[in-house]
Amino acid sequence: WSADTIAVVTGANRGIGFEITHQLASHGLTVILTSRDTTLGEEATKALQEQGLKVVFHQLDVVDHESIDSFCAWVKETYGGIDILINNAGISYNTGSDNSVDCAENVINTNYIGTKNMVKAAIPLMRPSAEGARIVLVSSRLGRLNGRRNRIADVALRQQLEDTESLSESLIDSTMNKFLEQVKDGSWVNGGWPQNNTDYSLSKLAVNAYTRLMAKILSERPEGQKIYINCCCPGWVKTAMTAWAGLTPPEEGADTAVWLALLQDQSISGKFFAERREINF
Ligand code: NDP
Repeated sequence: WSADTIAVVTGANRGIGFEITHQLASHGLTVILTSRDTTLGEEATKALQEQGLKVVFHQLDVVDHESIDSFCAWVKETYGGIDILINNAGISYNTGSDNSVDCAENVINTNYIGTKNMVKAAIPLMRPSAEGARIVLVSSRLGRLNGRRNRIADVALRQQLEDTESLSESLIDSTMNKFLEQVKDGSWVNGGWPQNNTDYSLSKLAVNAYTRLMAKILSERPEGQKIYINCCCPGWVKTAMTAWAGLTPPEEGADTAVWLALLQDQSISGKFFAERREINF
């Protein structure tokens, strides 16, 4: 890896995304710090540039197609492509024990649809290299399919989502849409959905399933054009998202995503990690 290696981090103006940017740039890469808010993004970039790191700002809102298109055109024009994408941008509205789904549509749209938007936009930009291009999706253990206390009750649906033969983008989408329809008519409470942080847990379950689906699709690319994709849970991290109640500092929360982005072993794709160890989906 060198300053010619171009990494893109979404939602990098604060929290875990800021730390991922900091750590990747400390390894000598050129990192594009992106943020939906230009002022916040420029301030964060300046703080890292003042440490002598090669960090460049560009605006990017993962749910705004115009923003994504203009970001991609700029990257292509300026760098010719990218080597690493870390999609970290995410939202959650439930920090306490309450389980409101008032913002469910926004949560699914940002965490799942935003992730898909970024993966689809990045693939044509990714440069073939000896190291192989990398995508890392920041997810959460709350989205585990077979978590003991927080899972979808429908066993058949769980099995369909687990089996890469039956897994498809339309199955993940229809699962999210079914939940959102039940949110609208109020029947979601008895819908057999995860009980804890329901909308957020489902959005991350979708990210995890999408990781496995894309790993399978990307593995079919010819040698020399491979792209490896994995997802990870940062732990319970002290950031705005947890109202600073998390136990892990952002420096540690960023570690596994950075490790995955720089991993030498190219056989690893379609896996879920936490604390640098593979965990079950
Ligand atoms: P923060 O709330 O501190 O940061 C989230 C970042 O995402 C912010 O920069 C935010 O921008 C950005 N963002 C939100 N929506 C968009 C959008 N549409 N386009 C671009 N950027 C957007 O949270 P964390 O740092 O804790 O979270 C980072 C990731 O880690 C998330 O995906 C989260 O789900 C995941 N995670 C976090 C855990 C934790 O304990 N903190 C646990 C498990 C997973 P803005 O400042 O403008 O709001």
